Amino acid sequence: MPLELVTLPALSDNYVFLVHDSESGDTACVDVPDAGPVLDALKARNWSLTDIWLTHHHHDHIGGVDDLLGHYDAKVTGARADRHRLPRLNREVAEGDAFDFGGEQVGILDVSGHTEGHIAFILDASRYAFTGDSLMALGCGRLFEGTPAQMWESLQKLAELDPETLICSGHEYTRNNGRFALTVDPDNDALKDRMDRIDIMRGNDEPTVPSKLSEEVATNPFLRATDPAIQAHLDMTGSDPVDVFAEIRARKDRY
Ligand code: ZN
Ligand code: FE
Repeated sequence: MPLELVTLPALSDNYVFLVHDSESGDTACVDVPDAGPVLDALKARNWSLTDIWLTHHHHDHIGGVDDLLGHYDAKVTGARADRHRLPRLNREVAEGDAFDFGGEQVGILDVSGHTEGHIAFILDASRYAFTGDSLMALGCGRLFEGTPAQMWESLQKLAELDPETLICSGHEYTRNNGRFALTVDPDNDALKDRMDRIDIMRGNDEPTVPSKLSEEVATNPFLRATDPAIQAHLDMTGSDPVDVFAEIRARKDRY
């Protein structure tokens, strides 16, 4: 049985996730844009927060940590490389590290690109990947600090996870991401189908996050820089995937 997963909207377009093990009572919150929705959700379920996992230093991912720590004595985990700009960490991690949570192993991947020191929390047994602003539904984070090569490498690590993995990313940007995706991958039927479903979901105000990795591999242009149809559409047939990725990212920045 996978651990219980709760997806909570926060601020204008962020997501916070709760992961809960009913046996041990362990409860983690992944990123804290704002403590309010987290406190409400914990109270409604009668859960006590034991862990806070931070993907990266941006304010919309850590702004509510201090407030939350005023209510719960939770252990804060984040990247050692980012300790100077994260809230005080109780556990500093880096790529390849793993720790126990709720009877499972939580693995750490370095997925820098959006920022340096951006990490993802991987729960292989439950098949959850908390990717923050690295791999997102139909998109990836803007390259504020890293290079295209770095982000491409980060996305490749995530693409190698079990295809059934749920990608729990930080924002509801999916509809706009999908509209852009269609400009570089216009003949992709899986993408068109997915966009039809996303339009309906957003019309009903339903979250499109988390999404399944297999679906991202089939439709997310940032994972598809080796795809012959995309390369042909960009007039980059046979190019280095990093260059193709960089071109897609540059077009998205202008979109
Ligand atoms: Zn960010
Ligand atoms: Fe963000």
